[in-house]
Amino acid sequence: MKVTGYLYGYYFLCKRKVWFAARQLNMENGSELVAFGKLIDENTYKREEHGIVIEDIANIDYLKKHAVHEVKKSDKQLDSAIAQVKFYLYHLHVRGVCGMDGKIDIPLQKKTVDVTLTESDIAEIPEIIKEIERIMDGAPPPVVETKICKACAYYDLCMI
Ligand code: SF4
Repeated sequence: MKVTGYLYGYYFLCKRKVWFAARQLNMENGSELVAFGKLIDENTYKREEHGIVIEDIANIDYLKKHAVHEVKKSDKQLDSAIAQVKFYLYHLHVRGVCGMDGKIDIPLQKKTVDVTLTESDIAEIPEIIKEIERIMDGAPPPVVETKICKACAYYDLCMI
């Protein structure tokens, strides 16, 4: 399995979550929180293009005015969302689509966060991708309980 935008974003939340998701344990399909997020994504920006795909590694919510847009339900996991958008910008950059900006739309908070791909991001992202591949191929990382665990789709697998 390739490192996808979702796996890349998960890396900044929990390495064990990356490992589960890489095994296509799609418990998130049954998670009310994730379903709610998808509902926002599908209904808030109906006029925009949806689901722009880069091979089988990235599914960008939509593009508008030279910006990649990612829709999130809140800013609670903003670092992960920023990393995910940088991952999309990186994959566009290496395919020759340069000069794009990124935006994280949080409609319920009426907020937009700008994201820029820097030269240091371009150097760092391939190293992080390699690290994620090592996690995917290795033994399951240990449970590290954090404040995100209670809302995680893999909670039962880790805590029960
Ligand atoms: S429940 Fe916590 S430790 Fe387990 S995968 Fe989710 S975030 Fe990681």
